Amino acid sequence: MTAHQRGALRTALLYLLFSVIWLQLVGYLLSSFFDKFVDKQHWLLINGYAWVLVSAGLIFLARVRIARCFAKTGQSADRERLRQAAAVFDCTREGVLVTDRNGLIVHVNRAFMAITGYEEDEVLGQRPNLFKSGRHGADFYRAMFTALAEVGEWSGEIWNRRKSGEIYPQWQTIRVIRDDDAKVSHYVAVFSDISAIKDSEHELAHLAHHDPLTGLPNRLLFSDRTEQALASAQLHKRGCALLLVDLDHFKNINDSLGHNVGDELLKRVAERFRGLFAPGVTLARLGGDEFAVLVENCSQPGQAAVLARRILDALKEPLRFDDHALFINASVGISLFPGDARSAGQLLRNADSALFKAKSAGRDGYALYTEELTAHAQQRVEIAFELRRALEQQELRVYYQPVHDLASSRLVGVEALVRWQHPSRGLVSPAEFIPIAERTGLIARIDAWVMDQACRQMCRWQQAGVALEFVAVNVSSRLFAHRELYDEVARVLHDTGLDPACLELEVTESAVMEDPEVALEQMYRLRELGVRLAIDDFGTGYSSLLRLKRLPVQKLKIDQGFVAGLPWDEDDVAIVRVIVALARSMGMQVHAEGIEQREQAAFLLEQACELGQGYWFGRPVPAPQLDWAHAPAIT
Ligand code: C2E
Ligand code: MG
Ligand code: MG
Repeated sequence: MTAHQRGALRTALLYLLFSVIWLQLVGYLLSSFFDKFVDKQHWLLINGYAWVLVSAGLIFLARVRIARCFAKTGQSADRERLRQAAAVFDCTREGVLVTDRNGLIVHVNRAFMAITGYEEDEVLGQRPNLFKSGRHGADFYRAMFTALAEVGEWSGEIWNRRKSGEIYPQWQTIRVIRDDDAKVSHYVAVFSDISAIKDSEHELAHLAHHDPLTGLPNRLLFSDRTEQALASAQLHKRGCALLLVDLDHFKNINDSLGHNVGDELLKRVAERFRGLFAPGVTLARLGGDEFAVLVENCSQPGQAAVLARRILDALKEPLRFDDHALFINASVGISLFPGDARSAGQLLRNADSALFKAKSAGRDGYALYTEELTAHAQQRVEIAFELRRALEQQELRVYYQPVHDLASSRLVGVEALVRWQHPSRGLVSPAEFIPIAERTGLIARIDAWVMDQACRQMCRWQQAGVALEFVAVNVSSRLFAHRELYDEVARVLHDTGLDPACLELEVTESAVMEDPEVALEQMYRLRELGVRLAIDDFGTGYSSLLRLKRLPVQKLKIDQGFVAGLPWDEDDVAIVRVIVALARSMGMQVHAEGIEQREQAAFLLEQACELGQGYWFGRPVPAPQLDWAHAPAIT
């Protein structure tokens, strides 16, 4: 009950109270007046009648008062409600449109005008099909009217047209309003503009299927497209090619120049690739530095090879950044449907095997999938299995390759290189099994064993009076950052009693740059043991000079790739000169590997490179076969 109604009730009760008092008063006056003329019995009867009549009248009056009062409050509540409804109607963010039973617009609110761009007087008396977008067919509207007729309500997503002509999505509910006779009187449509939601939905879908860095399709979308392409190729008896592209040594760029440069480089590479292909070709970034290209309607290996070449050539020009230019190469693996694979998964796996082959063949090239590659993959699994046995059965051997002082030509050190004396396959190269040992974790045992053997051998040589300055052993990048390496080196030195200054640890440049801070810490600890440190395969790892300067390293080993072109290849000559100058300025020794010709040794000597190693001096051999007296004349 409202406060107003409570007031009315109170007034009515006062009415009643006054009526009763009044009656008693009148009754008393009357009785004293009539007493003289009427006997007692008649008086009581008249008095009773009068009392009942007047009371009834008064009660009636009170009731009328109450009813009026309630009616009044009811009317004002209705008015209040209407006012509120009008305010809601006007202030709501949802557009509201009301039509009469004939479908002519009779009301619209402010939100309607804001959303559609129409003014009220432009739409009153019109039909809602004024907003039709043309996106929905007759079936759509038929279903809407059926729902309105049967259920009295319809809700759903509908595309309409604004006054500007722009088509937009809205979420709309239409309700049928009926009068007291249950006849349709109006239709009320309430709607909201959902273009923002649609945009974010679209954005989310895009994000789920695209790589945010390059904007290219991601692995998910690429797999999807491959599935579709294969289904369509099968149907139309056509072929497809999948090219897997991996940038060479990208990790080094990322590690040495930072992730921002790495990201920028990936974007630039993606742009270059994008410009290479016609619209029917899907280019995707599968992750990291791996891109994939799906070419429909391509059945000949030759066609795919032309595309691969185009990809490789696109990287021939350096990528220029603000203050520097970067060269990056790529390797490409190609697999064809239906020749090489019958499913999307297999196509991708086979392209990956071909990519592995391209990488192993020296990178910056492409390779087509062949069945042998699957055989190779199987062989890798077998090697991993057999390698365990090789360690237990002592099938590993340590070979030693001489290192000569270029100035005197004298043999001053050796590098220990592991070999596997396989019972049926003969002598297996470390290039074949070291990567597998690294993947399976066996490398720790192999490297520890080689170090132990090399140190023992060095002790034996020293005892035999051989004047050898050092024995170098290779440390896998997988072990380099680990604490166990320090413990292992300390243990071997302790067990063998070798002077630490005679042991040199070779770490590849990429291993150092993988995590330069950890590398630095590890190197300082190893230096405390007194061992020598050398950076192997120098020139391939994009070292940051600033970091290099901080490393407690005694030696840079120039990668044999740069020695091969000496002394004729201008680029190799320039690079070797720079490395020698660099090492000099940092107080490091320079050691060139892969010397196969006298001219190379002579050029290096001319550049003041101190040490040389290569087939021209001597191949890696078992310890007893080393020729201590061998000192070939360089000049
Ligand atoms: P690396 O440490 O750079 O070793 C030099 C490689 O170049 C050796 O190959 C050597 O035989 C080869 N080589 C030396 N002189 C010449 C030459 O004049 N011409 C040519 N073409 N090659 C030459 P190898 O013994 O096959 O070893 C390959 C790689 O395997 C090594 O490269 C090293 O990274 C790794 N490796 C070898 N032994 C071990 C080991 O005990 N532990 C680890 N972690 N890696 C090892
Ligand atoms: Mg080495
Ligand atoms: Mg090397």
